[in-house]
Amino acid sequence: MGYLIGKGEDAAFWAKLRQDYDIYAPKRFPKQGRFSDTDIIRYDRVESGAEIVFDEKSDYPAKEVLTPICQAILYFTEDEYRASKASQRPILLFMRPCDIHAMQHQEKIYLENGGVADLYYRRMRERVHIVLMECSEGWDTCFCVSMGTNRVEDYALAVRQTEQGLLFDVREDALKTYFAGQPAADFQPVFVEKNSVSVTVPEIADKELLLKLKEHPFWQQFNGRCESCGACTIACSTCTCFTTRDVIYGDNPAVGERRRVTSSCQVSGFDDMAGGISFRKDAASRMRYKMLHKFRDYKARFGDHHMCVGCGRCTDRCPQFISVTATLEKMAAAVAELSSASK
Ligand code: SF4
Ligand code: SF4
Repeated sequence: MGYLIGKGEDAAFWAKLRQDYDIYAPKRFPKQGRFSDTDIIRYDRVESGAEIVFDEKSDYPAKEVLTPICQAILYFTEDEYRASKASQRPILLFMRPCDIHAMQHQEKIYLENGGVADLYYRRMRERVHIVLMECSEGWDTCFCVSMGTNRVEDYALAVRQTEQGLLFDVREDALKTYFAGQPAADFQPVFVEKNSVSVTVPEIADKELLLKLKEHPFWQQFNGRCESCGACTIACSTCTCFTTRDVIYGDNPAVGERRRVTSSCQVSGFDDMAGGISFRKDAASRMRYKMLHKFRDYKARFGDHHMCVGCGRCTDRCPQFISVTATLEKMAAAVAELSSASK
């Protein structure tokens, strides 16, 4: 069933929703972009539809709500600790199709990996009701169609921005009450069916080919080009790397809190271990790790999708203009070269 929430006549509607839900959506932060006089669009709590950016792709993904960049996970004193507490309020999370798929990919890591569910992710995920933001055209770095993430069937609400206001498709029964008395409208979301960029993820047939690919010289171009800044992974819809930091309160070093802080496999030192061990010592090996994790290893472990949803945010954010699709093409060429050489 569809409804129109008319522009300028929606204050009571949003007020009623806010009574029962926290609403998170992409929002514009003027003059906070990385270049002078540029804005940034990222997720934040919103009061109404007027604050939501519908006509541009957000610079940062919806994962910033599900896995905040910095969160206290436990508090400790000399001889005891307790987990941090969380709000119980449900969340309406406005997401593009790629972000919804990304959430499902992250769930595999946070909830299924090793058979132990991550408490902090689970309690946040249980609060979330999906609001699908319709994407009808996509943007120049998107390749969601190639990655099979352009369509979504399972959502609580779907929304489209129009001149007259917001059109909603309401699927979740509990939300229907908020639309009572609003004018009915015919609305079903449409999906992007073609991007300007398309990719084919190469099949890496066996371990022998994988080992040869790891040694292929094309990875070396990223030494000297990639700055190891991690911007690509922070903006990535699916990346999950984090580290922990202890923050000590006052003079007593045994009293404080432990924080989970987003980190990146692309940053030098991320994989350092006790004993002076480091697995990936240069930018080339870190890029190789990221690409193979996204486009081979995740699928090998979880069996259904690759770990990339084709949002293109990594390409948009890279200060060195390193494009994930161009890198994937180079990887595919290396795989083809190695495959034909072994015949
Ligand atoms: S690797 Fe790049 S295109 Fe793929 S999900 Fe991450 S940010 Fe998006
Ligand atoms: S690929 Fe780009 S964004 Fe990612 S770490 Fe290298 S320079 Fe930074």
